[in-house]
Amino acid sequence: MGSVNLDGVLKAVKQVRGGVAVSHNKNTADSEVVRLPVPDKVVLPMQQHIGAPCIPTVKVGDKVKVGQVIGDSDKFVSAPIHASVSGTVSAITEVKLPNGVISQAVEIESDGEMCLYEGITPPVVTGKETFLRAVRDSGLVGLGGAGFPTHVKLRIPPDKKVDTLIVNAAECEPYITVDYRECLDNSWDILSSIFTIKEILGIKNVVIAAEDNKPEAFKILKNIADHKLDKDDEVRLMVLKSKYPQGAEKMMVLSATGRKVPPGKLPADVGCIVMNVASVAFIARYLKTGKPLVSRSMTIDGSAIAKPQNVRVPIGTNIGDIIDFCGGFKAEPGKIITGGPMMGLSIIDTNLPVLKQNNAILAFAEGDQKVMKERDCIRCGRCAAACPLSLMPTLIERYSKAKDVERLEKVGVNVCMECGSCAFSCPAGKPLVQYMRLAKQVLREEKSKNA
Ligand code: SF4
Ligand code: SF4
Repeated sequence: MGSVNLDGVLKAVKQVRGGVAVSHNKNTADSEVVRLPVPDKVVLPMQQHIGAPCIPTVKVGDKVKVGQVIGDSDKFVSAPIHASVSGTVSAITEVKLPNGVISQAVEIESDGEMCLYEGITPPVVTGKETFLRAVRDSGLVGLGGAGFPTHVKLRIPPDKKVDTLIVNAAECEPYITVDYRECLDNSWDILSSIFTIKEILGIKNVVIAAEDNKPEAFKILKNIADHKLDKDDEVRLMVLKSKYPQGAEKMMVLSATGRKVPPGKLPADVGCIVMNVASVAFIARYLKTGKPLVSRSMTIDGSAIAKPQNVRVPIGTNIGDIIDFCGGFKAEPGKIITGGPMMGLSIIDTNLPVLKQNNAILAFAEGDQKVMKERDCIRCGRCAAACPLSLMPTLIERYSKAKDVERLEKVGVNVCMECGSCAFSCPAGKPLVQYMRLAKQVLREEKSKNA
């Protein structure tokens, strides 16, 4: 950790088992976030979060301004969608998202003005309910890739007691550096938000968790942790060994508190809330300005990208336009991914809009991606050793092929978080994550047949 003062810095209470050592490739760490020029058009899918999709609240021909609600839902697990450019609604259309979901979408032709909606004012927060309402109105979802509506995460059920907020600055996926930049560039927003959340939700302890491979961010986070409003403030920094998937929610809870989140349960069930550091910082900016989530920072990198960098883009911008801004492809891309190389989703077409939860676009030149031909399992056990959740991928694959629902449930297929550590470790090139997804689907189908 170089010259960082480690006084008061926590070590992981419990080490996460398994996981894999991946090349970090944080090539864009020194790239300050630059703004993309206003795009000619944005396409805003109504499904940009876990939960119920929104319904468009505008129609073709409507004039809209930045920050105006253009889609909403009356369901609890959802988050409103806002116009990210000013202009005219040119279509209500459909778009196929990288996860295969077909979503309704609002297309806006930009007038190039980026006029802010007049209704935007800082929210009046007087307590827990007005705070949670404000977080909902902001349209915030987990910016680290999960896309879970933040207002739902922060609404602690009355039968649960949360005593620890974990601010996740681990960013353990290779290549991605936007959370690192958030720590460097917006540390006061992180600090301000931490105290707001802590005070309003009555959470005693805050743990900011970062891996030991980011000394610059670590220094800044240490300053945040050392900053006390009063002597009872419990805001501590925790250093984690850099190992994938150290930043996964359940792993974070284990490292910070030693508590295990049981299968099918949430961190709140064991007294914790885990929030991505960029989501935390956004809340402070929203409370100050009232400007909802209409843009986000993304890392654009990979061997096929001419000028890798961090870029701030309006939500709904076409991925192809962003790649063009980064100099286009310098080599024929063999693989393009939204998100990180371990958990991101491959896309074959760049004519897709950026979603709220997309933190990266990576494009790798043909030939750079090691595509191993799948061979027979040699029973080496590396997949099981790498699994942080102690699952047995080979057994899951076998029971899935046999459609053995009872055994699939017993071996905990639904617990799998699809982190990819097993597949990364497999010398036989078995696409184990795909097998895990297939096994979950088999379980769902077989159970619905028997229902
Ligand atoms: S993808 Fe699933 S089975 Fe494989 S290592 Fe991750 S959690 Fe374990
Ligand atoms: S790592 Fe691959 S080869 Fe080894 S036991 Fe697992 S599936 Fe088989």
